[in-house]
Parts: sequence; C-alpha cells; structure tokens
Amino acid sequence: MFKILVTDELSPQGMELLAAAEDVTVDVKKGLSEAELAEVIPPYHGLIIRSSVTVTANVIDRAENLRAIGRAGVGVDNVDLEAASLHGIVVMNTPGANSMATAEHTIALLLAMCRNIPQAYKSMLELKWTRKKFTGVQLYRKTIGIIGLGRIGSRVALRCRGFGMEVLAYDPYIGADVARELKVKLVSLDELFAQSDFITLHTALTPETKHLINAETIAQMKDGVRIVNCARGALINEDDLAAALTSGKVAGAAVDVYSAEPLPADSPLRGLDNLVFTPHIAASTVEAQRDVGTQVVSQVLQVLRGEDIRNAVNMPLTDPKIVQSMRPYLKLAETIGSLQAQLAGGRLRRIEVEFKGTLNRQVKLLTVALLKGVLSPTLDELVNYINAPILANRRGIKISQTTGMDARNYPNLITCRVYWDGGCRLISATLFSPNEPRVVQVDNYRMDVRPEGQILVVESQDVPGFLGRTGTILGSAGINIAAMRFGRTEPGGRALTFIKVDSPVPEDVINELMAFEPVYEVGQVML
Ligand code: NAD
Repeated sequence: MFKILVTDELSPQGMELLAAAEDVTVDVKKGLSEAELAEVIPPYHGLIIRSSVTVTANVIDRAENLRAIGRAGVGVDNVDLEAASLHGIVVMNTPGANSMATAEHTIALLLAMCRNIPQAYKSMLELKWTRKKFTGVQLYRKTIGIIGLGRIGSRVALRCRGFGMEVLAYDPYIGADVARELKVKLVSLDELFAQSDFITLHTALTPETKHLINAETIAQMKDGVRIVNCARGALINEDDLAAALTSGKVAGAAVDVYSAEPLPADSPLRGLDNLVFTPHIAASTVEAQRDVGTQVVSQVLQVLRGEDIRNAVNMPLTDPKIVQSMRPYLKLAETIGSLQAQLAGGRLRRIEVEFKGTLNRQVKLLTVALLKGVLSPTLDELVNYINAPILANRRGIKISQTTGMDARNYPNLITCRVYWDGGCRLISATLFSPNEPRVVQVDNYRMDVRPEGQILVVESQDVPGFLGRTGTILGSAGINIAAMRFGRTEPGGRALTFIKVDSPVPEDVINELMAFEPVYEVGQVML
C-alpha cells in the first residue's frame, strides 16, 4: 500500500481518483507549516501539493519513504528541487492542464479591453447610459505580437487568427516549422514592438524576461498600443506601464498577474480607467481545476506504481514514448556504466561518452542512464535517473561528450571511456536486437560479449594452453563456466577474455589465476 499526503485543496475528481485507487491510502492535512510537514512526512510515499506548503531540504531529509511530489499547477518554486533530486524523488507539475483556460482568459481580457466592457458595466451599475465614451477598437485586421509561443502563446495565436488578426511572435526557442504550422510570423523583439497594435505576454519569468516591458521598450512601441499580461507580473515594470497608460502612449492594458500578489492597495496600477484587471484568475475554470487535480493524481500514482513518469521537472526527459522506445539502449548504457565502474582501477575522475547513430538525439537521457550504472555499484543509496547527475557531480566526476572514440562501425553505438588516477578504459557496446546487447570493443580488443551475469575479465598474454589452465583452476574450485569470449590484439600479443561463470569467484581463486604466468590482470563483475 502506498501512503499519499494531500496538503491543499484538490478537485473532487482528483480526490475521487485517489479514493478509487485500491493500492493507496490517503490523508488530507491542510495548512501545514514547514515544521509540521517535516513532522508528518516520514511514512508517506507520495505528496500532492499546491502552493500552500514549502517542501524544504529539511522536509525532504525527513521524507524517508517519499518517491513522488506532485504539484497541482505549474510553479514548483516552493519545492527544494536539488534536495528532492538528491534523494531520487520525482517532482512533477501539471503544465498543460490550464493552458486552454489561460489562453481563453487572454482573449477575454483582450476583448474586454478593446470594448471597454468592465468600464461600461460599471457605468450601468451606476444607472448611467453612457455610449460614446465607450467606443472601442476592433481586432479584425489588426496586428498582435505574441511574446512566448509556448503552450499558451500558441493557443492564443490560433484564436487571434480566428479573429482575422495578423499574428507576429517573438520566441527565440521556437523553431520556424512550429510558427509556420500556426501561421504565425516569427520576428525579432524590435520588429514585434514596432509593428504590433496589441502585445500579449506568454513567456516564463526569467532573468532575461524580467521587466521586458519597461519605459524603454514601451517607447519602441506604436502610439496607442494595447498590452495584455496573463503570464507573470514581473514581466512588466508596473510603474512604467502606469505612466504610459496615464500619458496615453499605451492606450489600454489588461492584466491578470502582478509583481506583488494580492495587488497592494498602493499599486501604481490601481485607479487607471484604461486598465482592465483581474485577480490572477486566468487558470481558474472548472475544467482546468478538474484537469489539474486528476492529472496530478494520475501522475503521482503512475510513479509510485513504477508505470510512467510524466511532467517531471527534475528529470532529463519525460516524454514517455521516447523513454519507452529508448529502454533497451538505456539499459545498455547503464550496463556499460556498471561494467566500467566495476573494472576501474581507482576512483573515477572523468567520463567521456559518445553516442552514434539515432542515439545521438538522446544524449542527455543516455548519459544519465550511464551515470546511474557507474554509480550504482559503489553507492549504498538509491541511484536513479533523477539524482545520478547530482551524485556524480558531488563525487567530482566530470562528464563530457566527445567524438571519434569509437573504432567500430555499428549504426547505433555507445562508447564510453572512463579515467581514474593512473588509468583509463574504453568500452563500446551496441544492440544486435532489443534483447541482444553486445560489448564490441574494450580498449584495443574487438569483442563479442553479452554483458550479463557474473563475469571474470582476464587480461593476459595470448599463449597456447591459457584457456585450458584457466578452465582447470576454475573447475577445481567448483566454478562452472557458462561461456567464454576472447579478443586479442594480434596472435601471441595481449588477449582479453570474458569468462561467464555460474557463481561468484572467491578471492583465493582469483589470486591463483593472478599467479598464473601469462595473466596480467583479473577483474570480476556482476551485471
Ligand atoms: P511554456 O513553457 O509552454 O511557454 C513559454 C514560452 O516562452 C516558450 O515557448 C519559451 O520558448 C518562451 N520563452 C522563453 N524565454 C523567452 C524569451 N526571453 N523571450 C520570448 N519567449 C521566451 O509556458 P506556458 O504554459 O505557455 O506558460 C506561459 C506563461 O503563462 C508562464 O509565465 C506561466 O507561468 C504563465 N501562466 C499564468 C497563468 C495564470 O493564471 N495567469 C496560468 C498558467 C500559466
């Protein structure tokens, strides 16, 4: 049974999903302080939160059973991600669940701003019948500039096109093909400022985007521009926007988010009659709340049940289809890492990796898998895809990507060279089929070894009788040989032999092998 703690309000549909899960018991504890959360957390395997709790390193240190944290919503700034990663805890959010709601609110604000709807409504409440003052502007044939063409920005783009608008977008991280598909013209920020009648913000808040809208950038905009912000308050310098709304340089603005929330009474944005504003409700629809709740629950359940990991914010890749299709290669990368770590002659300092063929597209994921393999044999603690990079970093292991290491010509090949003080070793491996992993190169030796089970790795001089004598030593110790593969540099040169055995080889037998004259080195690995 998995124990799940819910610390915030979750949609009834999300709670129903939890109640229906037969392998789960659920506790709901709201309004917990950090100390209280640390106190109650030890037995829980899953934690479902919104923004009311702070999951600090202290909480995570106490969370000995915790494997998944699900944030119903997007922002995970209330979770110490590094501490969670270090403990191998998956942290997930529910990014797409409220994109449509936010896109629709953007359009609602855009129209409300253009047609003075809140102002007209207010005058109706005051029993007035004012018409001329509320003459609006149309969207049709106007140009809108979208800053940030992600999940929400692209939905806004489609809807604006529906109104017959010309849509420009600035997003340095979006490919031309995405823009083409949306029938959006990608432009520079300068062009967007110069050409747009409306500007809407849909980028994340980063050091680069903080105060993106300020006196200087407003000066670059058309006179009478109208601005919408349903993203993050600090994208706009609110003093500068208020000044531009007062001067009329900006004819109107519509805002859902603020640098400080709740919006302070003395905010410069208060009391401007050409500003339409809402209290951060863009994502607040029945459907979005429902979807956020059910999505976070199903994601947490999937992680606990070992079925899937989606929307993890502390994992290299979370597209389940890619992870699924890469699984055999991830296992291979892990095996090579483990083989390298077990054969290494000292503490690893540096790892170089090269991924050939289509594997080259998943370098990050494969590297993490390889690191997991490297670290697992030497660490007691749980090593997984989430904490492997951080654990490697803490152990001072440097990882780099390189090219030209592999000597073999296979369509998909993983090559890894590890360095320790005084030595290094290269290993290349591939898959002959999804269940047929093969080590095909070890340093200068061409091999054909299935890296599985208990294996003795013997480096020796290539002399007649070597295999026979080795077999005799193992046989007289009662050790059964399951398979043997060997590679050599040249006849009579050096040879490397992988001997698959049915049981671990004791130390004294290894010493006996080492004493056998042609033998240079003996290693034992369990894969
Ligand atoms: P997303 O990650 O899908 O899209 C963000 C886009 O911004 C990406 O395409 C990214 O490439 C782009 N970007 C990053 N840096 C940029 C830069 N310097 N200039 C231009 N573009 C840049 O995110 P999303 O889900 O579409 O959310 C967009 C924003 O909306 C976020 O700030 C999010 O926090 C906010 N949001 C607000 C509410 C609300 O209630 N008002 C609800 C949901 C999301």
